[in-house]
Amino acid sequence: MRVAIYTNEREVSWQVKQQLIEKLVEQGIEIDDHCPDIVLTVGGDGTVLHAVHHYINQIEDIKFIGIHTGHLGYYTDWLPSELDEVVDFLQQDHRNVCQYPLLSIVLCECGSTSYEVCHQLYAFNEMTLLNAYRTQHLNVTIDDLFFESFRGTGVCLSTPTGSTAYNKSLGGALIYPTLRAFQMTEIASINNNVFRTIGSPLIIPEEQTVTLQSENFKDVTITRDHLYESYQNIQKIRVSLSNRSVTFIKRREGLFWNRVKQHFL
Ligand code: NAD
Repeated sequence: MRVAIYTNEREVSWQVKQQLIEKLVEQGIEIDDHCPDIVLTVGGDGTVLHAVHHYINQIEDIKFIGIHTGHLGYYTDWLPSELDEVVDFLQQDHRNVCQYPLLSIVLCECGSTSYEVCHQLYAFNEMTLLNAYRTQHLNVTIDDLFFESFRGTGVCLSTPTGSTAYNKSLGGALIYPTLRAFQMTEIASINNNVFRTIGSPLIIPEEQTVTLQSENFKDVTITRDHLYESYQNIQKIRVSLSNRSVTFIKRREGLFWNRVKQHFL
């Protein structure tokens, strides 16, 4: 078994990392940051997001365990005071896992030779399309159905586990993490007697695809979790639930509603 430790920049996280290294070495467990079977994250949910993107190309080969050095997180189960238990837990069999899907985002750009160039990207919490300066026009299609013409700041498409993050701040529903669906919420849509959008968050089953198209994606920012990029030549964006997922070794069953209660109530 090869283990990597992925931390955020906080001093306390580095201290926990150091203690973990000593405990792993004591137990003869190999530390390998390049090709790990298990990644221990030390930090918060943001650290898990960074780790997922860091290991995205080998995500199927990795299982994650999250240790939180800040507030209780959605992806982090363990406390820094429980490092001995973490190291014991590591050495048990890891059949009790949960798999959380990634969001698949296919960005199609107009290439210099007028051919479409598509990029496959992923998000673990959500992707947003944002225009901070101008009213963004978007045509939203669900599979083959033209659904609505959106005008406003943008949209957020989130995974079930991302539903408690940005999606929640936008008035989206909380989705139980084992449900295979994704969600679209509006960001400051314009609704009047000329322009109209559905207004409600949409929960979309895994077999369907949402396509966002516009005459003008200039000034648009695409965020994926903590990452953000600006694009000039996008033509359309196809979003669906990916077959790829992130695997966590489960500590306990049924923590989700408990966490929601502790975090928000
Ligand atoms: P970060 O580590 O400071 O995380 C931001 C906050 O979001 C933290 O409090 C974190 O615990 C919480 N969070 C992250 N994932 C969560 C989840 N799945 N469920 C519940 N809470 C969650 O900063 P970062 O690394 O830049 O994190 C990026 C995330 O920040 C994005 O994926 C997005 O969800 C979130 N975000 C939220 C808003 C908002 O709510 N208005 C705006 C921008 C980004």
